[in-house]
Amino acid sequence: MLSDIEISRQSPRRPIGEVAQSLGLTSQEYHTLGDAKAKVQLNVLPRLANKPSGKFIVVTAINPTPYGEGKTVTSIGLTQALHALNKKVCVCLRQPSMGPVFGVKGGAAGGGYAQVVPMEELNLHLTGDIHAVSSAHNLAAAALDARLHHETRLGAEEFQRQSGLSPLHIDPERLLWPRVTDHNDRALRQIEVGLGRNNGPQHSASFAITAASELMAVLALSCDLKDMRQRIGRLLLAYDKSGAPITAEMLGVAGAMTAVMRQAIEPTLMQTLNGAPCLIHAGPFANIAHGNSSIIADEVALKLADYVVTEGGFGSDMGFEKFCNIKVRASGHQPDCAVLVVTLKALKSHAEVHQQDINAADLTALQQGFANLAWHLANIRRYGVPVVVAINRFPQDCEQELAWLQQAAITAGASDCVVSEAFAKGAAGATALAEAVLTALQQPAQFHYLYDPDAGLEQSLATLTELGYGAAGFSLSAKAQQQLQEIKQLGAGSLPVCMAKTPMSISHDAKLKGVPRGFTVPINELKLNAGAGFVTALAGNVMTMPGLGLNPGYLHIDVDDDGNICGL
Ligand code: ADP
Ligand code: MG
Repeated sequence: MLSDIEISRQSPRRPIGEVAQSLGLTSQEYHTLGDAKAKVQLNVLPRLANKPSGKFIVVTAINPTPYGEGKTVTSIGLTQALHALNKKVCVCLRQPSMGPVFGVKGGAAGGGYAQVVPMEELNLHLTGDIHAVSSAHNLAAAALDARLHHETRLGAEEFQRQSGLSPLHIDPERLLWPRVTDHNDRALRQIEVGLGRNNGPQHSASFAITAASELMAVLALSCDLKDMRQRIGRLLLAYDKSGAPITAEMLGVAGAMTAVMRQAIEPTLMQTLNGAPCLIHAGPFANIAHGNSSIIADEVALKLADYVVTEGGFGSDMGFEKFCNIKVRASGHQPDCAVLVVTLKALKSHAEVHQQDINAADLTALQQGFANLAWHLANIRRYGVPVVVAINRFPQDCEQELAWLQQAAITAGASDCVVSEAFAKGAAGATALAEAVLTALQQPAQFHYLYDPDAGLEQSLATLTELGYGAAGFSLSAKAQQQLQEIKQLGAGSLPVCMAKTPMSISHDAKLKGVPRGFTVPINELKLNAGAGFVTALAGNVMTMPGLGLNPGYLHIDVDDDGNICGL
């Protein structure tokens, strides 16, 4: 089989303007950037406001192995199959972060014969939205340090006299806003800034990956430009010496940040290998952020297409949970059907099969690991959403195991369970999946949220950990308890929760495979994300800046003499 990049490069592509028109955009509602990409302009939103919405299909997975189980491949394959069945369909995906591209996981444009093309453009830079997020984010960090520098250097009164601005009295011990970069750079996890003479007050600081930036969440959760401007204004950057919050609005930087984000708020239109429309927008990770693509892209897609496929990051305990409890609350667009992606190898990893044996036939291990799939099925059904299980087939998979799994998933409550061969066969390999989804969509979803934020943060955390993960409960560190009080005092105690935890287990502990029980989720920190509109709870050892491993992806990537990128 050809490599992903060879398949991507050899496939004929429709001119992107034609894809835009076929989706139903008028020529005033998009502008092309070459023949492969177009930015969708927000003037389309008022025209679509009162149109009915198409069906919304969310692709999720069991707890994955570190390589991913094929949600993106399945999302794109399903879209290609629906498109081939002459359905009006659009897929909405996140923009890949360059951290995983150059790190362990590789690209996120799908793979094999289920791809968004050109994959090298999608995986690297695209239209620069992630750079815009990094830049706007870091502008706030620079502005905060500069303000601290000048107020400290001059003293409050003199600062006011010379600048004409009211002093903010920033507490140098309570700066909350990290810096971000779109790479896995462990050396930046903890740093000292302001070293040397005249470089501002020295203090410890940190970097996160851009996919964990609150501004990335803001981009993904904003409904329009005005909403984004207001959310940016609400970003909590620091506290002052009396303990009062200092926001981006108060620092006077919110307008300039929005200006940097002006192009980034427009979704990017691309296409699948068979020419179906694809909207790429925003890129929050699902473990350390809310893990779903943008509300604006969904809105455009749902109003223009009859079927919209999207992907929530990692397992249903992560991206799907946050889709339901955070994104639906902000957008109003409820899921009509879920596709639960599973691989034989991931189920075996839940039965503690070692890495070197993971591809071998082992029905006993599969039956043992099945518990994890059954848990995710029940988890999704708790939201009132029908579930189709898609077994993402790998070449080594054994027929007998596939057949057993299909039957077991249906017995466990799936609307249907089908083998997807989208990777190897493209649209044709996902026809059965598309038909199963169309059938499942005939039973109306009875969507409901898992918890009610109005009951307060402690109650939300209790429901999320007990019902959402099957935990005995949660505990708050002393620091988290203090933060909880502060968040309540600021009147933000009824925001939804965005849990930051390992995606490798239903619990907070990556080593607890299968269906762990009786564990207590240790919340080490609570962070108010007033711009995004949620409270992040950090459980266990979560890091917002990944590192590069021993054999990172960048080792294989190069450019040939003709300018073609290879090794992605
Ligand atoms: P996820 O979205 O769940 O993280 P992806 O769809 O990105 O997973 O797939 C992870 C990696 O595995 C990608 O490199 C993809 O090309 C590869 N992959 C997915 N499905 C298959 C398959 N059926 N056969 C071979 N490789 C696959
Ligand atoms: Mg993915």
